[in-house]
Amino acid sequence: VVTEFDKVTDSVCPFCGVGCQTTVYSKDNKIVLVDGRDGPANENRLCVKGRFGFDYAMSKDRLTKPLIRRDDALKRGDIDMRFMQVSDVFREATWEEAMERAATGLTRIRDEDGGGAIAGFGSAKGSNEEAYLFQKLIRQGFGTNNVDHCTRLCHASSVAALLEGVGSGAVSAPFMDALKSDCVIVIGARPGQNHPVAATYFKQAAKQGTKLIVMDPRGQELMRHASHGLRFKPGTDVALLNAMLHVIIEEKLYDQQYIQANVSGFEALKEKVKDFAPEAMAEVCGIAADVIRDVARIYATSERSIIFWGMGISQHTHGTDNSRCLIALALITGHVGRPGTGLHPLRGQNNVQGASDAGLIPMFFPDYRSVENVDIRGEMEDFWGRTLDPKKGLTVVEIIDAIHEGSIKGMYVMGENPAMSDPDQIHAREALAKLDHLVVQDIFLTETAWHADVVLPASAHAEKLGTYSNTNRQVQIGRPAIDMPGEARQDWELIVELANRSGLDWSYDGVPAVYEEMRQVMASLNYISWDRLEANESVTYPSKPDGEEQWVVFDDRFPTADGRGRIVPADLRAPDEVPDEEFPMVLTTGRLLEHWHTGSMTRRAEVLDAIEPEGIAAMNPREIARHGLQAGEMIAVETRRGTIEAVLRADREVADGMVFIPFCFNESPANRLTNPMLDPYGKIPEFKFCAAKVSAA
Ligand code: SF4
Repeated sequence: VVTEFDKVTDSVCPFCGVGCQTTVYSKDNKIVLVDGRDGPANENRLCVKGRFGFDYAMSKDRLTKPLIRRDDALKRGDIDMRFMQVSDVFREATWEEAMERAATGLTRIRDEDGGGAIAGFGSAKGSNEEAYLFQKLIRQGFGTNNVDHCTRLCHASSVAALLEGVGSGAVSAPFMDALKSDCVIVIGARPGQNHPVAATYFKQAAKQGTKLIVMDPRGQELMRHASHGLRFKPGTDVALLNAMLHVIIEEKLYDQQYIQANVSGFEALKEKVKDFAPEAMAEVCGIAADVIRDVARIYATSERSIIFWGMGISQHTHGTDNSRCLIALALITGHVGRPGTGLHPLRGQNNVQGASDAGLIPMFFPDYRSVENVDIRGEMEDFWGRTLDPKKGLTVVEIIDAIHEGSIKGMYVMGENPAMSDPDQIHAREALAKLDHLVVQDIFLTETAWHADVVLPASAHAEKLGTYSNTNRQVQIGRPAIDMPGEARQDWELIVELANRSGLDWSYDGVPAVYEEMRQVMASLNYISWDRLEANESVTYPSKPDGEEQWVVFDDRFPTADGRGRIVPADLRAPDEVPDEEFPMVLTTGRLLEHWHTGSMTRRAEVLDAIEPEGIAAMNPREIARHGLQAGEMIAVETRRGTIEAVLRADREVADGMVFIPFCFNESPANRLTNPMLDPYGKIPEFKFCAAKVSAA
């Protein structure tokens, strides 16, 4: 119990896309307690990360001075930075020297090789205003659309399918609507670990009688609350979902009236799923035909059904196809556009929705307006006063490949950690090492920052003002609770200074001024002024002129060209790399409840790191016995891209033939192993499936 504090700050949680509102208590410029506030997405609740993960901001590891790479420090992709001294690689610098070095390095490449030789990775952990300024700098200042962020690694395929199918990449209804549903499907997601407060709503729904259907190759705690738990074979999502579509069509459980009025592509879907009878797909996906029929009937015939999904759906080379099937389920049953129905890809980071909305993606200006549309580009050129790149830019993994090919030579990375988060890690790190000029702006010397030429110490979430858009499309304000350490500076100010040193002439008198500029080019933020956010603490977009927030969208028509939802039938395709004699296991990766993404924050949070302190690889006890291994021993996990060592954990939730490794541990980096092959539409790598083998270390 904390009895002493000298400051109380209303803010939001820095971790997941649930967007819990918090009250931060601090004393002597240190956070001493975080409590839940009565926000619309959390109603005073917080999970272990939100409640106990705050002290990373006060870590002794915080960057407090700008760093410049020593002339004699070699750049190598295969170094293990855990055993290196900072002073062997970097020297401290003044802000003047660091900013000048950062800007001249990037502008020299731009001027000699063209803007296409520059790329930027922003961050879904930053605010909307930071995301907007970052993409504006890359587009306006460097003349390229090579700007992306970690949405490419989480829901890019979901967004591709949603834009194609329903004309909007955002969720159609908030997760709290589970309480209004008669049937909730959670597929390819582990909300108990990754969206814990959202999971409490799903459990409450089940308790009050809602059918909760949880579908995932791995078991999970939420299945204990479910009416149906379907542990299907990894990589067979389309087989299972097309079989459900088959049942709904065969048994005429679809909503003919809704389809006629609102949907195109139904005939093609009928034709496609003809061959996907549950009896034929049972062997493929590992779920009995009568169970498939049962869940299809429940979903279709319930008055209100809603679907939630996560990266088990999206992180596949057929990730877009997986989402297309989910969209088809909603469209043919009319389970969209009403309270308690809808499509909801659970967003990962606290601002991945907002960063994407703000244009931190290579194909769209803010609000998903195509960079390749002449009229839209003309509007943005008028607004920003510069000629803009007419081609869509490269995505995260494409940028890494372009560095290897030599066409990208300079990068600005803000708050992103591709040296840990990108697939085929050695390949990614070698790319970072190959850059002529890398500027990294962060709060820690991340695995990515070790490769930098210039490191700019920046602000933690608890130190800054900004807006964040959660998975429900709710825009909320994060406020500074403590001061930055040492000479660290605000991220938004650093972007502005880099812009001005790169030949632009920007001037903002604060974060609200940036937000107001965003509103001029983002119709989604119409009627959501800064003052309204301050007054309401949370406003859902889109908002109507009378102030009414649209928690549920598509009630009237879809925001597509013809106002109709579009079904795109999906084929069954195998994962890119399937197990064989040499690599007989399936490797899948993901997150843990206690650790957030690449671990740069949560591994520096004392309580969280104490609960999960070491890199692990989890296997089913049966599989452990078959391999002649013992839980707790060190094992080696190998794929065609590399080998790592990790502590073996027995976990009955992991399927036979599978090994699960979280990607947050730099001593056991899962992404050294993962397959960089991309989904052709969303350009997301296949993190959820590759061939592997395990042995004693
Ligand atoms: Fe933070 Fe997400 Fe936990 Fe809420 S559920 S406290 S937003 S990590």
